Parts: sequence; structure tokens; C-alpha cells
Amino acid sequence: MTILITAGPTREPIDPVRYLTNHSSGKMGYAIAEAAAEKKHRVILISGPTHIDIPDHVDFIQVETAIEMYEAVQDYISKADIAIFTAAVADFRPKQKLEQKLKKSTVAGELSLELVRNPDILGSARSAMNYEGVLIGFAAESEELIENATRKLNQKQCDLVIANDISRKDIGFNSDENEIIFVYPNKIEMPTKASKHHLAHIIIEKALMLLEQTHQHST
Ligand code: C5P
Repeated sequence: MTILITAGPTREPIDPVRYLTNHSSGKMGYAIAEAAAEKKHRVILISGPTHIDIPDHVDFIQVETAIEMYEAVQDYISKADIAIFTAAVADFRPKQKLEQKLKKSTVAGELSLELVRNPDILGSARSAMNYEGVLIGFAAESEELIENATRKLNQKQCDLVIANDISRKDIGFNSDENEIIFVYPNKIEMPTKASKHHLAHIIIEKALMLLEQTHQHST
């Protein structure tokens, strides 16, 4: 099977040396890519900047901004049977990137940065990109975990949303462990806590089960 994975943060330039980003390490997405490659699937890993080694036997596409990630997903998603979106895409980007480094001497007092919305890549998969394969998103939430994950599942027309609670310090973003809840259109599977490596294998199994179900429905 071909599995497309987005991972890592995006980096949104302010000027040639400054950017907006977030704390995503990319560990979960890379662990899923590695698990899928170990099981001999073809993996297309589209990643923002991280400090992690590229897993063996994956097709790696390096991107920086949300728009670049959107374009890479648009180019490759039609090849995928399964698409798993783990990237922490910046919701906003500076309205314009300054061509020259902003000098503080030119700014008197306060400086405001005008931001515009980035495209919702996962939210565009079904609509703008006409993707019909298995679609899996992540929901990193600090409150009302299941409600928010269910809303995302419906809005972005996913087959599964994997929810985790980022208010907890022992799991999530930068940690090696994660505790996740599987939110499907018709059921919720309660917390599974394990290393990101072990969870990655579980996620691949769930994705393959969903693929099997959609094949059963279409035959
Ligand atoms: O709406 P929210 O950002 O919380 O949704 C999270 C899910 O949507 C993740 O799977 C993330 O990778 C994806 N996403 C995306 N493009 C965005 C924002 C989020 O693909 N601009």
C-alpha cells in the first residue's frame, strides 16, 4: 500500500532570518513513517523542518511553509491509499515576507505583524484534492478532547481522528510517549498509552483495517 504522511511543524518566514513556528518535534509522524516502511509499505513522508533522521526506505519530501506542504500533498495524495496528517501546520503566516532583514533601528516603539490564514491541508483533502482513500487526522487539544476531535472528524471528513491531550506534560508534542484516543464516525476507542514507536504500529494497523472496510463497502 502507499501511505502519505505529513509531519513536523511548518516555518512561516517574517524576513530572511526570522520565522514563526511551533514546538512540534515530528516524532509521531516519523515513527508512523518508520513503522509503515518496516511493514514494506511505500511511504511518502512530507515533512517540515525537524531534527530527526529520515527513516530508511521512505520517499522524503522536505518542505518549510504550510503552502509548500499543501502543494506537496496536492501533488502526491492521488498516489496514496492511506493519508495520515500528523503535521502541526501553522494556522497563520505573516502577510508578507520582507525581502531584507528587519532592522530594529527602523522601528520606533511597537511593531505589529499582520497575519493571514494558512490553508487547511487536511480539510482540503476530500474537497479541493478529491481524495477518496483512508483519511486520518490528529487533534492535539488542551480541553474538551473528544468533542473537539469529533468536530474535526466531521469538518475534515476523516475516517479517524487520533486525539491527544497536550495539557499533559508527560505525553504529546516533544515526548517519546503518547496517550491517544481513537475517534471514528461511529465509535470511540479509549486511551492507549505507549511509546510513539509502539503507537505508530497500532496506527498503521487501524489504518489498514479502515482500508479493508472501505474496500468491502465498495465491492
Ligand atoms: O484544526 P486542527 O489544526 O486542530 O487540526 C489538526 C489536524 O489537521 C492535524 O491532522 C493537522 O495535521 C491537520 N492540519 C492541516 N493543515 C492545517 C491545519 C491542520 O493539515 N492548516
